[in-house]
Amino acid sequence: MKNFDKKISRLIRPEIRALKAYHVPDAAGLIKLDAMENPYTWPEDIRQAWLEALRDVELNRYPDSGTHAVSARFRAAWQIPDYLEILFGNGSDELIQIVLMSLSRPGAVVLAPTPTFVMYEMIATVLGLKFVGVPLRADFSLDVTAMLEAIATHEPAAIFFAYPNNPTGNLFARDGIERVIVASPGLVVLDEAYYAFARATFIDRLGKFDNLLVMRTLSKQGLAGLRLGVLIGPAPWLEEFNKVRLPYSNGTLTQASANFALSHLEVLNQQVEQICKDREMMYRSLIRLNGLQVWPSQTNFLLFRTLNRDADEVFESLRTRGVLIKNLNATGGMLKDCLRVTIGTPAENSAFLAALEAAL
Ligand SMILES: *Cc1c(COP(=O)(O)O)cnc(C)c1O
Repeated sequence: MKNFDKKISRLIRPEIRALKAYHVPDAAGLIKLDAMENPYTWPEDIRQAWLEALRDVELNRYPDSGTHAVSARFRAAWQIPDYLEILFGNGSDELIQIVLMSLSRPGAVVLAPTPTFVMYEMIATVLGLKFVGVPLRADFSLDVTAMLEAIATHEPAAIFFAYPNNPTGNLFARDGIERVIVASPGLVVLDEAYYAFARATFIDRLGKFDNLLVMRTLSKQGLAGLRLGVLIGPAPWLEEFNKVRLPYSNGTLTQASANFALSHLEVLNQQVEQICKDREMMYRSLIRLNGLQVWPSQTNFLLFRTLNRDADEVFESLRTRGVLIKNLNATGGMLKDCLRVTIGTPAENSAFLAALEAAL
């Protein structure tokens, strides 16, 4: 072991040694409401048709590197105009990595309002970029003045906005974001991972601002297992990123399944509608409980704070009662005593509410 330690500290960069690997907790036997997954699978007839579609996939061949068929599907589904290009990643996580790999150079800075999606900082750090977080206001709205000051100070190579934001669940005001885009000397990436639930987008602004990109994913909409993220933007940027991307990062099975899913969008859309309805029911139930602060949400999750109890204890108590949610308490700051619950099926939501009531 001694030898490992010595070699590791000599060879592995200190900022990587200081990181903790992204922790995915074991959910075996638990009601899983921790990761913003869609709780629904497909109806049996659709499932059969999907398996049928996979029959013709030629696994002996390399995948379509240009992802042509699936590109056309996305253009139609999301009304992406012809003057914009599309680039796919192995989840949007990989797209964040591709963008930041392209921008990585000594001293380059990545900026985002915080608290936000942790992968921006994690990937920036791994790639040797410096991450700067600009705190949101107490009500989780964007502090535009602080953002503009940070831009002047750090001249960031990239700014990320999760729109709506994870884990706070809100949409930042459009005009604030636009002021940031105008003031930014670098790229601005609008991460629309929750677009299906919020229906707010900056796609209509792409091309009007030459430093703007939009990113989406199928993960939160019901296809987390596929690993398919989508970057949309002006061709000159995407041509550069395409050089950094590994040529076959989107497997044939993923492409064929995405193709199939997008031809049955009505199923996914109906599930999203159900989840939004259930989110409102869950919100109303949570605000009725004593000792909680609950924030409204434009996503498929709700953030709440335990006011009279330690969030770690409530989290553990929920787990003992068979429900896994996300504990954000360790993040500290604005997220002290905060927990995040993903909207599940009505039965799962009821089980969560009963367990929470017992835990409080
Ligand atoms: C979940 C999430 C992602 C990750 O999406 P994948 O496509 O599954 O990698 C990206 N951005 C935000 C804001 C998210 O919450």
